[in-house]
Amino acid sequence: MDHDKVRDVDPAVADALEGEVQRQRETLQMIASENHVSDAVLDAQGSALTNKYAEGYPGERYYGGCEYADEVEQLAIDRATELFGAEHVNVQPHSGTQANQAVYFAMLEPGDKILSLDLTHGGHLSHGHPANFTGQLYEVEQYEVDAETGYLDYEGLAEHAAEFEPDIIVSGYSAYPREVEWERIQDVADDVDALHLADIAHITGLVAAGVHPSPVGVADFVTGSTHKTIRSGRGGIVMCDEEYADDIDAAVFPGGQGGPLMHNVAGKAVGFKEALEPEFEEYAEQTIANAKALGERLSEHGFSLVSEGTDNHLVLVDLRESHPDTTGGDAEEALEEAGIVLNANTVPGETRSAFNPSGIRAGTPALTTRGFDEDDCRTVADLIARVVDSPDDESVLAEVREEVATLCDENPLYE
Ligand SMILES: *Cc1c(COP(=O)(O)O)cnc(C)c1O
Repeated sequence: MDHDKVRDVDPAVADALEGEVQRQRETLQMIASENHVSDAVLDAQGSALTNKYAEGYPGERYYGGCEYADEVEQLAIDRATELFGAEHVNVQPHSGTQANQAVYFAMLEPGDKILSLDLTHGGHLSHGHPANFTGQLYEVEQYEVDAETGYLDYEGLAEHAAEFEPDIIVSGYSAYPREVEWERIQDVADDVDALHLADIAHITGLVAAGVHPSPVGVADFVTGSTHKTIRSGRGGIVMCDEEYADDIDAAVFPGGQGGPLMHNVAGKAVGFKEALEPEFEEYAEQTIANAKALGERLSEHGFSLVSEGTDNHLVLVDLRESHPDTTGGDAEEALEEAGIVLNANTVPGETRSAFNPSGIRAGTPALTTRGFDEDDCRTVADLIARVVDSPDDESVLAEVREEVATLCDENPLYE
């Protein structure tokens, strides 16, 4: 994958682009929200549709010349409808955060109440964090996971909802390794007459493949990102019942965005087509099997996993007991030096800070895309253990980096 056309104009950017491809090829991408899209999705995203203004929706645009934009957007909508079974789909949100913004803007007034999961327990900035517009525009309270078990505390949520009387309950998380019981959250929402937004950003692909229960048809609104466990390129998506369709469409455009990024909509269309193939279900199953293998082997090495394991694509490791002198930040840094890229993460009952928390989060979507199986993931767990046991030992980091290079050579990427 060269960038000759960029190089002719701008060698500095070409160097960085090629450096990034090399980085993705030669190191292990274990940030749970990342993946590698296909060459076809990259091609669609780098297409001439980046030039096209297509404000509006297929068949009702504010500009001329939209025949191909219409075709592409309708294909993305039809495929998403088939993948998720939603009554209405909007594929224009620029990202998952914009998808959530559309739901809030459509359904809430400033000052309305949001009940969402605490960020340090696996929630997301766009669910009401003080630094996000949601935390400033709405009244937000947060529920928690059970700090002992790491599982969602559905009863605690019900009590909190009865007391707070939210207008909307947000479910769906950034660092929750277990299956979410959407119906239980819907029951809570029904009991207090609140709307329910299920944000499946992390597990969009797992839901599409049918390997995680779907909130579509359960929650009032389902939002997702299109670049995490589904490989459709960077972007967001909103799904809802027909009764909310016009409000949601108006909240995406013109409510919160201008012209859609039509090249990204093309990437979504292509990625959704790929996700409709039977191989995608195998991919999603393998992603989960790999996360389980990774987690089990890490446990054997003495690491403590939040909720003691995983049902999905990620594991959350709490370092406090096994490595009391190593913060998540220390581990992240040493692992990166050894060629394993993941992120420090808060854990339930966090005693450090969000900037240097007590855990690390590791995901298998990207490794699975490049062909890793359970055995490979057990090897990766062995490597992670070697690094985190000796984060300051340069010779260990260098040895692990060699082994990472071998694993990468065996599972090539973007050839
Ligand atoms: C990743 C994520 C999002 C979307 O993030 P963007 O970067 O805006 O696409 C939304 N909600 C949750 C829970 C997430 O983990």
